[in-house]
Amino acid sequence: MRRKTKVVKIGAVQIGGDAPVSIQSMTKTNTEDVAQTVRQIKRLEKVGCEIIRLGIPNLGSAEAIKEIKREVDVPLVADIHFDYRLGVICLQNGVDAVRLNPGNIYKIEQIREVVKEAKKRKVAIRVGVNSGSLKATPHATRRTLHARNKTKNTETAELMVQSALDYIKILEELDFCDIIISLKSSDVFTTIQAYRLMAKKCNYPFHLGVTATGFSEVGLIKSGIGIGTLLAEGIGDTIRVSLTESPEREVEVSKEILQSLGLRWFEPEIISCPTCSRCSIDLKRISREVQKRLKKLDKAYIDKKIAIMGCLVNGPGEAKETDIGVAGAAGQGIIFKKGKVVKRVKEEEIVKTLFKEMNRC
Ligand code: SF4
Repeated sequence: MRRKTKVVKIGAVQIGGDAPVSIQSMTKTNTEDVAQTVRQIKRLEKVGCEIIRLGIPNLGSAEAIKEIKREVDVPLVADIHFDYRLGVICLQNGVDAVRLNPGNIYKIEQIREVVKEAKKRKVAIRVGVNSGSLKATPHATRRTLHARNKTKNTETAELMVQSALDYIKILEELDFCDIIISLKSSDVFTTIQAYRLMAKKCNYPFHLGVTATGFSEVGLIKSGIGIGTLLAEGIGDTIRVSLTESPEREVEVSKEILQSLGLRWFEPEIISCPTCSRCSIDLKRISREVQKRLKKLDKAYIDKKIAIMGCLVNGPGEAKETDIGVAGAAGQGIIFKKGKVVKRVKEEEIVKTLFKEMNRC
């Protein structure tokens, strides 16, 4: 069951409550370069990114927000570290949320200034704790924090949670409750532990992510396990997959995670077997062709499941579980629809027949 949370909005996007888990990414351009940044935001919007964060490392970037906001519709979040004044300027320039890092903006008088502007504009603040920038205290010196990060134990998770709770207390004392929480670590286990622990302590919505996961497969696996585990437990309201790749790729992977868990549907799902010596059709070619044709179908088909199985061992069983399916049998395809065999066709007619039958679903 999904964790019950308060509802917070970033622009028109609802985070928490019964809203669908939304997808975020972050621009990788120089924010001061408005034209390039706007182009990347538009590309991200096109692939389905619903909230976009921008790094604000300097005054030029904070000032650029005004112009960027004029060019795009998608909600924008300003990522603020070290200098609270950049957050204030971004808010004045119309940003839809700010992310503050408790590890580097923690003086109450500075937080108060950001809250004042956020409240005026009814804009949310994400308390973005990161295990790599936890604030040193008398109980957790820089050295112990570093050692704890290296041991990847639950103590780091506990410190992350405590850091978020201390920050929430400050915000609530300033009568501010439009809060979203994130607790990211590059270590998957620490990340999962931190969110699980935090879920018991408050009802603010969570932005999920495993930070700095790296390239390609490693990044996909770490993000899939970290974000996927939490979502499967009903924890998490908006997600960002963080890869050393294009932000568009981050969005594609986010969609895969959500669709794999059945939380949201973006395109029809293909269930195809890995093939083995029993495979009796050219399954790779058929799957690729089906995938290509599926992309051209309209939205009415996004929740369909198609099974493409190489033989009769698991084929009929899997194919019966889907809307439409095929199981290979000696150069032929047995076509299933809603659990029933509807046809036996020659291999070269499989793709055509699958789509013909699907149109009749
Ligand atoms: S469905 Fe048949 S061909 Fe595919 S992996 Fe299983 S046994 Fe092999």
